[in-house]
Amino acid sequence: MNSTFSEPVDWSAAVAHSCTFKTSHFIHGEFTPSLSGKTFASVSPRDGRVLAHIAAGDTGDVDRAVLSARQTFESGVWSRRSPRERKRILFDWADLILSHREELGMLESLEVGKPISHATTNDVNGVVDALRWYAESLDKVYGEVAPIGEEALVTITSEPLGVIAAIVPWNYPMILAALKFAPAMAVGNSIVMKPAEQSSLSMLRIAELAVEAGIPAGTLNVVCGLGAEAGAALSQHMDVDKIVFTGSGPVGRLIQKYAAESNGKAVQIEAGGKSPHVVFEHAGPLDIVAERVAFSLCYNSGQTCSAGTRVLVARSRHEELIEQLRKACSAWIPQDPLDPLSTMGPIASELQLERVTGFIDRAIDSGSELVMGGKRVLLDSGGFYLEPTVFDNVQNHLEIAQEEIFGPVLCVIPFEGFDEGVRLANQTRYGLAASVWSDNLSEGIRASREIRAGMVWVNTYQRSDITFPFGGVKASGHGRDRSLHALAEYSSLKSTWLNL
Ligand code: NAD
Repeated sequence: MNSTFSEPVDWSAAVAHSCTFKTSHFIHGEFTPSLSGKTFASVSPRDGRVLAHIAAGDTGDVDRAVLSARQTFESGVWSRRSPRERKRILFDWADLILSHREELGMLESLEVGKPISHATTNDVNGVVDALRWYAESLDKVYGEVAPIGEEALVTITSEPLGVIAAIVPWNYPMILAALKFAPAMAVGNSIVMKPAEQSSLSMLRIAELAVEAGIPAGTLNVVCGLGAEAGAALSQHMDVDKIVFTGSGPVGRLIQKYAAESNGKAVQIEAGGKSPHVVFEHAGPLDIVAERVAFSLCYNSGQTCSAGTRVLVARSRHEELIEQLRKACSAWIPQDPLDPLSTMGPIASELQLERVTGFIDRAIDSGSELVMGGKRVLLDSGGFYLEPTVFDNVQNHLEIAQEEIFGPVLCVIPFEGFDEGVRLANQTRYGLAASVWSDNLSEGIRASREIRAGMVWVNTYQRSDITFPFGGVKASGHGRDRSLHALAEYSSLKSTWLNL
């Protein structure tokens, strides 16, 4: 593997031509520095260089953003605008985002090391799809009339909750933010976004484009900063109606505590996973299975909440699968994310790289067999690159099989028979996603029913779309992003009795 970039790209030149860095909070339609004047450094995982100094928000900045969101909501400039008008403006916003595809993709690639070809397509398209889909739904969702009889007319209508706070992680900064702000704003709420400290730039630019598209100032505010400061202040705020969170389980539970200790605000949590592929004896061709496993492991450098990082395989197919996995994972080679041909960039931060290599070292110490990978590469670049890593004959109780690693690290666990496969699949505290590989129809359907997860794929992995819900059970959280079901997360039902 190369020790330097194959085709160096001068990102500073690329940036100068295609993007500007906005580094302050975006409150009531304006970029505003922190009241404290504090900033933090945003480091590019591509080469370890400091990209920008971003405003570090705390209680004072959060207060300003929530006040702006509350006043805007109460004024009705957005919340009481006709659904059709909200729809038109959301469509304009989506078009503007699309016309800034290169810039937004570049920001995301520089900040979190996403391959530029993925950032400018999948990630930008994900935001645009979410906005258009929820905008389109706006004037098609009707209320209800209760079957009460002759004495009254009882209507059941849906209303926006008010002020939503959203805290999101760095692995898909734009998409995960859009899955919150698109449904929330479609139904008329105002929102305060807190991006992860590793990935503020794209969210700030998207917020600026919202105002340019005609969304009233104060409807979408962005407070940047560290989780323990800006994030905690937002979760504890007394005037936030609901907090929606995507991130790690421990922080999710902290947010539930903050909500309970403050104003009892509603909470939605999308936390992590340790999702299994269950490869049964009757699985189809294993080169296809291995290709999909490698994709679910290496896409976004394994930093995907639903990454399928535990492969449970019927003992009769074990050796063949390992051979196929060697081939399929070798096709994923960490490269400069700004290289247009790159499909795998670095790990998003040095801290995260150290966390992942710590898991690898402890797995080796605990006797798991390292089949391939395990090493940091492209060291001369100054960035944080890691090879796809596969462990075999892992015991399911070990840390490497139970903890969410959030990097390209796979463990393979052989099993005997259907019951053991399903039992091992469920032997995790998580329940976000799973996949079942079998050409035996009833085996596939039975397993998909018996595995406890919010999303089960049969004979594929990681297919997602805005049209169906996504979220977990058990420690993976509760509530759902995507689909019409997500609208319920941002609305409350009102029953009105009209006496006849
Ligand atoms: P994280 O929980 O550390 O951080 C997520 C967000 O929470 C960041 O914005 C951070 O600043 C904020 N935060 C941190 N401490 C906080 C505190 N004390 N109070 C309030 N906010 C705080 O997670 P991460 O490392 O950024 O992201 C990776 C995690 O996200 C993984 O566990 C992954 O599985 C999960 N994730 C889940 C989904 C899903 O849909 N289920 C999607 C993507 C990522």
